[in-house]
Amino acid sequence: MARRGKRMAKGTARPKERNQITCAFCNGEGKDPFGILSILSTCQVCKGSGKVWVWPPTIKCGFCAGSGVFPDKRLTCTVCGGKGVVTKPKNAKTCPACLGSGMAPEGLPDFVCRGKGVIAG
Ligand SMILES: [Zn+2]
Ligand SMILES: [Zn+2]
Ligand SMILES: [Zn+2]
Repeated sequence: MARRGKRMAKGTARPKERNQITCAFCNGEGKDPFGILSILSTCQVCKGSGKVWVWPPTIKCGFCAGSGVFPDKRLTCTVCGGKGVVTKPKNAKTCPACLGSGMAPEGLPDFVCRGKGVIAG
């Protein structure tokens, strides 16, 4: 077996740099906004740093509208993981099933776009 080294995508448009953004779930405060365990609990999304890393290009998470919070629950959004943004699909277009809200009628992430509100075009 020839050694080929690590599998690395070459020549793709994928950016190699991540972007650091303010944590949406805690608004950059680094504390659990709901104080579920205690008022001093560390934000589970950014682990208290107030910043999270994302892969550009990103768009606002449709399901939580960028808040990072699961609508009507004191939980992190399961679509964006609490970051408030999601990686933008290629040639993104508005999801025809939820019309961009990311939400299915049951209040769960739309299964067509998986809650992003957009689908790959
Ligand atoms: Zn946070
Ligand atoms: Zn979200
Ligand atoms: Zn959708």
